[in-house]
Amino acid sequence: MNPTTLAAEIELWSDSKHGVRKAWRRLSCLLFGHKVSNSIFSLLRGAAKQCNCGVPYLSHCEETRVSHTVSCFLAGHRYIRIAVRSGHNEYVCVRCGHPLLFRIDRDPYSTRTIFVKKVRYLCNLFGHRVHAVASRCDLHEYACDCGHSFLKAEAERREVKHPAVCLFAGHFLRFTERRGDYDEYFCRNCGHTFYFVS
Ligand SMILES: [Zn+2]
Ligand SMILES: [Zn+2]
Ligand SMILES: [Zn+2]
Ligand SMILES: [Zn+2]
Repeated sequence: MNPTTLAAEIELWSDSKHGVRKAWRRLSCLLFGHKVSNSIFSLLRGAAKQCNCGVPYLSHCEETRVSHTVSCFLAGHRYIRIAVRSGHNEYVCVRCGHPLLFRIDRDPYSTRTIFVKKVRYLCNLFGHRVHAVASRCDLHEYACDCGHSFLKAEAERREVKHPAVCLFAGHFLRFTERRGDYDEYFCRNCGHTFYFVS
């Protein structure tokens, strides 16, 4: 981010108390990416999405950079079941839209309607050992036994790692398709998908 653009952003919003708060949100989004929340999206069903910094985002034709949801990172994701497909149970985090895909015969949460789950640290450190789930949207979908799923351009992947760029810069999301009540997006750098209430 170049300093002149930052200064201009701040000046633009800092002419009132409300403006200062908005300027801070805007700055935070410029640095870390926009905030997402499925609980807010479900209240605004059908309306065009707008970040709390004031910027319209998550359109179907432009890329959106989103930040990590700190509460999910610290406390774990809160999941509900949204689908059964390709021999897998699929879940989504009610806050950040993080999905989970478990093969039906290896799903430790199959009897739960809502549960909290943290990411598996060993997978985060050393990479996910993945199996193929489906091919769609000109991409190949994979899942690890920890439940983490990815959409990748390459077929026959056995392992997927989280690139450092996503840890520091957030995810760069593009729309893929509507799935049930959700719009699905995927990150061009890591293949991570997200579901946001449409
Ligand atoms: Zn924002
Ligand atoms: Zn989450
Ligand atoms: Zn994993
Ligand atoms: Zn990413």
